Amino acid sequence: MAEHNITPEKIEKVVIIGSGPAGWTAAIYAGRANLNPLVIAGHISADRAKIPGGQLMWTSEIENFPGFAHGIDGKELMKVLQTQAERFGTRILNEFVSRVDFSCKPFKIYHDNDFEGTEETVTLAHAVIVATGASANYLGIPSERTYENNGVSACAVCDGALPRFRDQPVVVVGGGDSAVEEATYLTKFASKVYLMHRRDSLRASKIMADRALGDAKIVPVWNSVVEEIIGTPADGVTGVRAKNIVTGQSGVIEARGMFAAIGHTPNTKFLAGNVQLNEKGYIVLRDGFRSITSVEGVFAAGDCADAVYRQAITAAGMGCKAALDAERWLAEKGVH
Ligand code: NAP
Repeated sequence: MAEHNITPEKIEKVVIIGSGPAGWTAAIYAGRANLNPLVIAGHISADRAKIPGGQLMWTSEIENFPGFAHGIDGKELMKVLQTQAERFGTRILNEFVSRVDFSCKPFKIYHDNDFEGTEETVTLAHAVIVATGASANYLGIPSERTYENNGVSACAVCDGALPRFRDQPVVVVGGGDSAVEEATYLTKFASKVYLMHRRDSLRASKIMADRALGDAKIVPVWNSVVEEIIGTPADGVTGVRAKNIVTGQSGVIEARGMFAAIGHTPNTKFLAGNVQLNEKGYIVLRDGFRSITSVEGVFAAGDCADAVYRQAITAAGMGCKAALDAERWLAEKGVH
């Protein structure tokens, strides 16, 4: 691959990869530290599965981000954070990072405006903050896309309190800790929560599973998979057609929501071989309290390095830490 556009005299002090709450918060802090950060913000993929701004771009209303007493639309929050970052000198490149080379200094970041890596440009950087987030796994059936943000969600904490789910039955799909956590959370709002799992027992930790199964509002639906999500454009989701994989029988469960809780995939493929990842692909932080990765000068923030909390506000906090860690590291190296 030709490495065009390399201008060795132009080495960025810090490049932030990703444009969710972690990326923009890192940019706000790096900007205010006069690091003149460059954010490689991503761009819209052909199937719209990936867009700049990340997961919150799919969230209609965020009620739990501090500072917005009456809630804020996910897209609006991303716009506000971006504007705040730009106010302090952040530059933005709407491209997609296809690969990196962290084996050399300065680091090399290859980016492109398509997903094929055919028109790669390389940017050199003394420090890098990776804030590429994670993507919620969905079932992958066509009707799921039809009702996204209209009754289909992959985040109960983000969407569970919306009026459409209040005192209504909902379905949560999955058998892990996320599924029981989401189901338990949804009992605050929904009239009934069907916890649908493709096996006859949960894989969630015993304490969380026992709590969920002991809740009168949670009804387990074992050995079952979703065949189709049913609804109308005006009403959104009205039901879930499920099939029992043992008996082969199908039936419709009346529900106003379908929450997929079947895990997340961190967006870290492009880092393979460059930074230590755990078995699930999350970036390993050398000290859970800091943002330092296995590579000196490379920092991580947000859901790409957090399998536990995965909240906009925790991602923002991690972005702040990553910018402070990067600034200190650059100062130590005499770059800043
Ligand atoms: P997970 O443990 O990987 O569980 C995913 C669940 O989704 C599994 O039950 C799996 O079924 C099911 N599943 C996967 N693909 C499916 C599909 N296409 N259709 C139907 N079902 C499907 O993921 P997670 O629950 O998000 O947890 C991820 C990690 O975060 C875990 O380490 C967990 O302990 C941690 N976590 C912790 C907490 C907490 O402690 N508060 C909360 C959330 C998550 P199978 O069982 O058949 O594979």
